[in-house]
Amino acid sequence: MPAIPYRGRFAPSPTGPLHLGSMLAAFGSWLLARHACGQWLVRVEDVDPPREVPGAVDSQLATLSAFGLTSDFPVQFQSQRNALYQAAVEQLLDQGKAFACHCSRADLASQGGIHRRCVAGQQRPQPAIRLRVADGSHVSFDDALQGRQQQDVDRDVGDVVLLRADGYWAYQLAVVVDDAEQGITHVVRGADLIDSTARQILLQQALCLPTPHYLHLPLLLDSAGQKLSKSQAAIPVDSAQPLPVLRWLWAALGQPPPALDAATSVAEALRHAAAAFEPTRLQKTSLLAPLQPPG
Ligand code: GLU
Repeated sequence: MPAIPYRGRFAPSPTGPLHLGSMLAAFGSWLLARHACGQWLVRVEDVDPPREVPGAVDSQLATLSAFGLTSDFPVQFQSQRNALYQAAVEQLLDQGKAFACHCSRADLASQGGIHRRCVAGQQRPQPAIRLRVADGSHVSFDDALQGRQQQDVDRDVGDVVLLRADGYWAYQLAVVVDDAEQGITHVVRGADLIDSTARQILLQQALCLPTPHYLHLPLLLDSAGQKLSKSQAAIPVDSAQPLPVLRWLWAALGQPPPALDAATSVAEALRHAAAAFEPTRLQKTSLLAPLQPPG
C-alpha cells in the first residue's frame, strides 16, 4: 500500500528563545511527521520586525539543532519571501477578493475591532489590505486532536488583514502562502493558533490553495492559567541539557516515559521516541508547566 505523503513543519516567530511550550510544538510536530514516515521542515516566521528580538533566530535554530530537531530542507525565512506574498495579494486584489482599507483601530473600536465595512475617519498614507469576508462565512474543520471546530469568520473575525498599515505582511497571509508553497500537508502547532485556522482556511479558498490537515497540541500553562509564552515562566530551554527536556516533553505528550529510559544521547532518544510514539496517546487539554525547568 503506498504511504500517505506527509510533510509537516515547525514555524517559530523569532520573538525570543524557545521555551518549553514552543519545544512541545516542535517535538510534537516532528514526532507526528516521523510516525507518518514523512518530512519535516523548519520555517522562520520573521515577518514582524517590531516584535523580533535580536539574536532570536540564531538562538532558536541552535536550540532545535541541540535537540536534534533539524529541518529536512534548507530553513526558509519569511523575510525573504516578499515576492510570494505580493503575488498572492495582487491576485486577490485583481479578483476583487481583497481591498485597500484606511480604517484605524480607533475607527473600528465601536464595532469591537471587527471590520465589516470601511468607516475610516481619514485616509492613511499607506492603507492596509484586507481579505473581503462574505456574510455567512461559516467555516468548520476537523482538528485531528481537538475534534470538530467551527467559526463564523464574518461575525467573529471580520475582514482579515493581509498587509498591515505599517507595511508589514500579516502572519495570516504569510502562513497560508508558505504552507501551500512548501507543500505542507499537516499543520501541527499549539492550540493558541486554533482560532486562526478558520480564517486561514477562508484565505486558502480565496487563493484556490489546498487546505492541509490540522492538529493543535495542548498548551502549557503556568499556575495562574496563563499561556507560557506570555508569562514569567517562559524560561528558555537549556540546550546544554537536552535529554531531561526531551524526556519531559515526551511525557507531556502523553507518551510512556520508560521508552526513553535507556537513551544516553539525543540521537538515541529521538530514535526511541520515533519508534515508540503513538498519536492516540496525545492529550488534548492544557498542561501545567513545571515550576523549575526539567533537568
Ligand atoms: N509563527 C507562529 C508562532 O510562532 C506559528 C505559526 C504556525 O505554526 O502556524 O506562534
